[in-house]
Amino acid sequence: MRSKLRLGILGATGTVGQRMISLVDGHPQFEVTAVAASHRSQGRPYAEACEWRLPVTMPAAVRSLPVRSPEPPLDCDVVLSSLPAEVAGDVESQFAAAGYPVISNSSSHRMDPDVPLVVPEINPDHLALIERRQGKGFIVTNPNCSTIMLAIALAPLHARFGVEAAVVTTMQAISGAGYPGVASLDIVDNVVPFIANEEEKIERETLKILSADFALSAQCHRVPVVDGHMGAVRVRLARPAEPRELREAFTAFRGVPQELALHSAPACPIIVRDEPDRPQPRLDRDAGGGMSVTVGRIMHDRVLGHRFVVLSHNTIRGAAGAALLNAELLLARGQIGAHGTS
Ligand code: NAP
Repeated sequence: MRSKLRLGILGATGTVGQRMISLVDGHPQFEVTAVAASHRSQGRPYAEACEWRLPVTMPAAVRSLPVRSPEPPLDCDVVLSSLPAEVAGDVESQFAAAGYPVISNSSSHRMDPDVPLVVPEINPDHLALIERRQGKGFIVTNPNCSTIMLAIALAPLHARFGVEAAVVTTMQAISGAGYPGVASLDIVDNVVPFIANEEEKIERETLKILSADFALSAQCHRVPVVDGHMGAVRVRLARPAEPRELREAFTAFRGVPQELALHSAPACPIIVRDEPDRPQPRLDRDAGGGMSVTVGRIMHDRVLGHRFVVLSHNTIRGAAGAALLNAELLLARGQIGAHGTS
């Protein structure tokens, strides 16, 4: 009997897929046994089909895997999906219908009422939505890369003080658009104040994760940074609080992944930097192996009461690492297992 659960990665040749493959390399509970991508890559060994762009060597275990079409059956127990939203909707539904647990980065099913949208430190209880379907396939999603850092930062404030309103202005890395993403001539020496559908996603996904209905407004910008999304946040709280109390709420924040010591869980989901010029993408995106969110500039704000800056690694905590942490949580809860046994 195999000691590790077998993962099939959909969109394995892409920005998020490559991150997933590198994060699973050496993982104690999972191994990659199947990879799928577009017709451009299908039928070729992964090493040949994939333009590997991470600064670590492509794991030997995936080099000779043939790139498959993203359709069942696939030689795996669990499917991790990082397909573009245009194709993910139908493909993920097909895998779920065929009995596979699907853990997705794509936006297609995030707002479906019967699909959990989970950040394990915040709302692991939402996974109860799939318990009534034990033994069958299902879809679990993680949020948009900017939503994750915002939701993680707002969660302890909402729990302690109550959030009444929040405004976030994002500065998002180029890798958030996948590869090749934004043309260099559009982003070098520039800021683009538009990312399609991003503002709506942040507003609705954050409220679903927090089970909240406060006023939330997002404005998104693509900036010439390779990895690491940043958000400038203003927040109105239901009760008066000093900045040091917000700091304490951020640093004390822990969740089920830390209690269970899940493999990808950072010791501190939120790291606070007190220097006046932090966080910064180059200096802080890799905090906690890319799984910690960094908060700084916690201050009074004349308009909404409080403000701070939040930063996270968009392809790790914002995508591949988020999906993997969801997989680890599902495994710890006994909601995934060898195909056909969960
Ligand atoms: P990407 O770099 O463009 O990669 C897309 C992947 O999907 C590639 O493996 C590609 O295969 C495959 N693909 C494209 N069209 C396909 C089709 N018609 N059928 C089957 N496979 C197809 O994109 P990405 O940045 O990794 O994003 C993937 C998903 O994750 C998107 O839904 C995105 O919104 C989401 N996401 C991304 C980030 C981020 O920071 N980048 C963060 C959170 C969520 P080929 O190589 O064969 O073309």
